[in-house]
Order: sequence, then structure tokens, then C-alpha cells
Amino acid sequence: MSLPSAKLQDVFSEPACEKNQSKDAKTRQQGCSKPLTPGAAAGGCAFDGAKIALQPITDVAHLIHAPLACEGNGWDNRGATSSGSALWRTSFTTDLTELDVVMGQGERKLFNAIREIKQAYAPSAIFVYSTCVTALIGEDIDAVCNHAAAKFGLPVVPINAPGFVGSKNLGNKLAGEALLDHVIGTAEPDDAGPCDINIIGEFNLSGEFWLVKPLLDRLGIRVRACIPGDARYLDIACAHRARAAMMVCSTALINVARKMEERWDIPFFEGSFYGITASSQALRNIADLLVRKGADPGLVGRTEALIAEEESIAWKKLAAYRPRLEGKRVLLNTGGVKSWSLVDALMEVGIEIVGTSVKKSTVEDKERIEQTLKEENQIFESIPPRELYAMLSQGKADIMLSGGRTQFVALKAKTPWLDINQERHHRYAGYDGMIELIHQIDLAIHNPIWRQVREPAPWDSHSAVEHELTSTISVSATGHAGEKFTSATANAVGLG
Ligand code: SF4
Repeated sequence: MSLPSAKLQDVFSEPACEKNQSKDAKTRQQGCSKPLTPGAAAGGCAFDGAKIALQPITDVAHLIHAPLACEGNGWDNRGATSSGSALWRTSFTTDLTELDVVMGQGERKLFNAIREIKQAYAPSAIFVYSTCVTALIGEDIDAVCNHAAAKFGLPVVPINAPGFVGSKNLGNKLAGEALLDHVIGTAEPDDAGPCDINIIGEFNLSGEFWLVKPLLDRLGIRVRACIPGDARYLDIACAHRARAAMMVCSTALINVARKMEERWDIPFFEGSFYGITASSQALRNIADLLVRKGADPGLVGRTEALIAEEESIAWKKLAAYRPRLEGKRVLLNTGGVKSWSLVDALMEVGIEIVGTSVKKSTVEDKERIEQTLKEENQIFESIPPRELYAMLSQGKADIMLSGGRTQFVALKAKTPWLDINQERHHRYAGYDGMIELIHQIDLAIHNPIWRQVREPAPWDSHSAVEHELTSTISVSATGHAGEKFTSATANAVGLG
């Protein structure tokens, strides 16, 4: 295995990670490795996390060095979107068999797979992921990658995050380390400018970053690299020439932002594009950082003008929804950065938050939510499905916003539900995204299906029972059926 323990310790004790810093020294030493429960769908291993963090880089071939089952799916179906190549969605695996393991054929098979991919697909780079089996049998993927890179003249990057080292989140960070060690800073752009930024931790789900990018274009701000959503390998290789960065999802790639600040003096802030206020604040922060780094000071004024114009359009559009949604109660069952930014965003249009989960949120995220909601009982780490069902079936919320895993709890409780996690089909970022989110909430809450499904089933209603009895009696009386009809039944329905 090529993952030195120093690297693991480094990622474990990430100083910019709020969650990590809130632990005591002893717990911090244990790192953020959460033991997985064998057989349980625990939300992914470190390999899974690494692949999730890197797969949206679209012109790269992602090769999994493992038995077939680690990859599992031949076509990535998560929500990230590409404006170009679809190569990233194709899964490549060395499909290691027991015989390969016993005969020591793994490294040879890996090298041949790299050659085959290079010849058939001509990718910009190949990322090679180690997994439990290949790490445990001591495959030296770094050596194979170096050899293949020299032989084929293309970047071949080892991603050392085998599943057993820990959780999905740890895998995210190890993926970031691989970018820092092997990709960022390996190419020089010939067009670096004073208004270049990186967006880190943005996955471009359903293409939602494309709602934000035109705003930056209007301000003359160039996104040098969006990592990883809709990224190209070369963009990331040149990312060290950006002047500032925005960190969108802190739990995934905070180590990348922090180390880029250390190595290349690229200041960053953590922000969100969910909600009108958050979007405006993000644009302001980007402009401020760029001006601090030498961009034209007029950028601040132009940003304020754009914010004023966009906010006024957005508020006008949202006003139409206010009478329909004011006072509606939302249960938010999601994690991470989405929680606090969505809480802010929904409250902006008069929607009441009856509860929000903060399971994956950082300490800072939780503080933000506490400040906004002001009632601690609305904040929970996670709700077991049984309690969630009880809450929804008692009508304590008008809609639940969550990921796909809990959708059936809401549907069983006959409560509207909206997907806000990675499989969602709508774009919620920026000003237009906020309007889309409110539109989707409105559609879900006022869908006539909910009135119909909440009505008692025809066979459960009192009149239906009477009707059935009467039918049985009339059929019986004509002598065609009704074996169960007795004089007692007839008396009961007043026919005796
Ligand atoms: S890397 Fe390990 S834990 Fe992850 S899917 Fe493969 S075998 Fe399972």
C-alpha cells in the first residue's frame, strides 16, 4: 500500500476542519475515521468518498484497481453534470480475480488497463484508485502510475484511499491530497489574470453552477478551476494561479483550500450559493478578496450594482409565491453546508422551519443555524425513520426536504417531499436557483395528489361498508349468492 501513515495523520488533524478542532486532543488523535459496520449500507467507504470527490472531473478516465464489486456501477448516475466530455461517467476497472491475486498479476493487469484506456479513449489523464484488496496485497500503484505516465506521455495519478482507512469524508480529503500532490501546480496558464478565482467543493449538481457562472462572467471574474464540478484536468493543473478561492462544501475539500492558501497565497472564504442573501454575500466576498489581491477596486462597486439588480428581480419573482407559501412548515433533513444556507434561504420567503438536521454540519454551521432559528429543539443530529414518520404523519410539517434515502418515509406519511441531495433534477444555486427551489416547493405542496391520497380508501369508509352489505343482501335475496348472509346480518341492517 502506498498510503504513508504521515499522510493519514495529516488529513486526520486538518486544522481548518471545524469539526476536528472541536474535539479534545485524545479524540482528535483517533482522527475522523469512523469504523464501518460490516454489511450495512453505511454511506460509503474512503474509496467511495475519493471517487465521489474526483469523478466530476470530466475529461479524466477513472480507473478502479479492484475486484469488480468495488465499482459496482458501470455508469455513474450521481447528479454532477458536464458541459463537454462524458468520459468521466464511464467506469473502468481492472476487475481483479482471485487468480490474479494468487498469481501476483495485479500490477501487470493495471498497466495493461492504463494502456487500453489510453489507446481507446485518449483521455487528458487517468486517475487510478486503490481499494481494500489491492492495498492489502501490497500493489504499488504509485510505481505503476509513474511507469505508465512516462511510457504513454500522459498524467497517470494514483489515488490512495482504500476503503478500510475510514469514512467517505476521509476519502474526500485524501482525494484532495492527491490533487495537491500530483495535479495542482503541474501546468502554467498563459492567460492568468487579476480576476481569476477557484471554486472548491462545487459539484455542479444538475448543472446548477451554470446559474452562477454567468453572474461572474458579467463581473469579468474568471473561474480558473471549479473543483471538481465540470472541471477539466488542465484547469485544475493551473488552479494555483488563481488570485482567490471560494470554499463551497467545507467537509469535503477544506484541506485543498487551506493548503493552496499556504503554498500559493490564495486566500479563501467559505460561502454558499443557496439563497438570495447567501449568493449576494458570496459575490461580495469574491470581489473583496480579488481587490485585496490587486484587482481593479471598481470591481466592488460593479458587484454591488449587479447584486442590487439581481436581488430586485428575484424578490419580485418570489413575491408571487409568498401568499401561497407564507407560514408553510418545512422539515429539513439534510447535512453539511446545505442546512444553514437552506434555512436562511427558506426563511427569506416566510417559510417556517420546524426542524433541521445538522449531522454533517461543522461547528460553525451549527452556530449559524442556532443563531437563525433561535430555538434549539428545532435542531437535531439525525432523526430515526420511526420518529421522522411519527412527526410527518402527525402533520407537524407541510413538506420534507431531504435526500432520496428518506423519501419513502415522507411518502408513507402522505407528506410532500422534495429531493435536495445529489440526485436532484433541479438547479437551486444562485438567484434563479432560489426561485426554482421555491417553485418546486410550491408545486410539491399544492399538488392535488396529496388531497386524494389523504382521503380514506374507498373500502375503509363507513358508507362503503354499508354499500357492500346492501349489495350482499340484494344478491342473496335474488338467490344468486350470499352464503354469508344470515338473519342476524339482516337484522343488523334493518331488514329482518
Ligand atoms: S474499497 Fe473496500 S470497503 Fe470500499 S467497496 Fe471496495 S472492498 Fe468495499
